[in-house]
Amino acid sequence: MSRHIVVVGGGAMGSSAAWHLAARGERVTLFEQFTPGHDRGSSHGSSRIFRLAYPDPFYVTLAVRALPLWRRLEEETGRHLLDLTGAVDHGPAEATTALHDALTAAGRPSHFLTPTQVAERWPGLRADTGALFHPEAGRLHADEAVAAFQQAAWQHGARIRHGVKVTRLAVRGERAEVVTDGEEAVIADAVVVAAGSWTPGRLSGLVTGLPPMRITQEQPVHFPAPDALGWPSFIHHGGAGLPPGAGVYGLGSNDGVKAGFHGVGPVVDPDHRDRRVDDRAVVRLQEYAARWLPGVDHTAPVATTCLYTTTPDQDFVIDRQGPLTVLAGFSGHGFKFASVVGLLAADLIGGAPGPGRFALGPPRAH
Ligand SMILES: Cc1cc2nc3c(=O)[nH]c(=O)nc-3n(C[C@H](O)[C@H](O)[C@H](O)COP(=O)(O)OP(=O)(O)OC[C@H]3O[C@@H](n4cnc5c(N)ncnc54)[C@H](O)[C@@H]3O)c2cc1C
Repeated sequence: MSRHIVVVGGGAMGSSAAWHLAARGERVTLFEQFTPGHDRGSSHGSSRIFRLAYPDPFYVTLAVRALPLWRRLEEETGRHLLDLTGAVDHGPAEATTALHDALTAAGRPSHFLTPTQVAERWPGLRADTGALFHPEAGRLHADEAVAAFQQAAWQHGARIRHGVKVTRLAVRGERAEVVTDGEEAVIADAVVVAAGSWTPGRLSGLVTGLPPMRITQEQPVHFPAPDALGWPSFIHHGGAGLPPGAGVYGLGSNDGVKAGFHGVGPVVDPDHRDRRVDDRAVVRLQEYAARWLPGVDHTAPVATTCLYTTTPDQDFVIDRQGPLTVLAGFSGHGFKFASVVGLLAADLIGGAPGPGRFALGPPRAH
């Protein structure tokens, strides 16, 4: 007999969990506090980088698992979500070599390019001392992907309820009680908490071993560019040509070429932030673009804000304690994995162990 599973949060992770659980025949209700396509969490906008390349083989393997699931989601929903435009990583040799080694060990292609070769192939992008090209990377359409997860979940019978906030969660023996702002109370066989930056507050006192999470407001910008959709995604690793500690990511999208610093924004409360754009940070990205992105119009940036929920080691939390399954701490690099994160949640609820690396518990060492 199917169980009733409640999912709290309709961002990328909760929506993916709803899809996988409903596809396995569970009765699923997803509660999302805001309207469809809202821009107050972490999953909105027209683009996210997809890539297999990580220096750590664990994440390469996870991204390899995510790729066919994105394609399955496209097939189930008829939506176009993922463009493999390739990616260029550039900067210090130790950064690009570590990526090349991890991809090669996994049997995945990549090759080095000189800055001149990069300029010949992508005149809009100027590369630092050395570059690595890897073709199995590119652009996910973020808004479309979240809508697709929810559409697929709905096609499998899930109820997707927007504008409903979960105000109380309580463990009742092997089950959990979920209360909404409409004073609706539901007893669920299991609850998936995928509340993004709201997760630490929502889970307070309910699970043990949740690592501390830093909530920051990040601020990428889009620059106009004539051929934005043809761009590879890119990461300019801190070092050679950048100030110490700085790193820049970017990619082409429907809104132009996006570029941002990774995880440098101010700490905020997700319920009380003014979402005001920091003009000094925009200027720093304009200065970056003037030097390294000759193909964009660096004089016309459009900034947007978004939340990171970052753990001390930037590893995710994907684990179950009793009736509660936690999907959290995606540390500004989770979107590409969303298609497999929901599957891991469904596995946990089905009784299978999760990845030990992402377990709740004492500080993790690796
Ligand atoms: C600027 C930026 C750029 C990024 N770039 C990349 C990238 O290129 N590649 C990549 O892989 N990743 C990237 N990421 C990271 C990725 O987008 C996030 O890891 C991912 O979107 C997190 O999704 P989530 O579902 O955990 O959180 P969210 O999208 O925030 O979803 C959580 C949802 O829970 C809802 N909620 C919270 N509390 C309640 C409640 N009590 N009741 C009901 N609903 C509730 C919220 O309203 C929200 O919709 C980026 C993130 C940002 C901010």
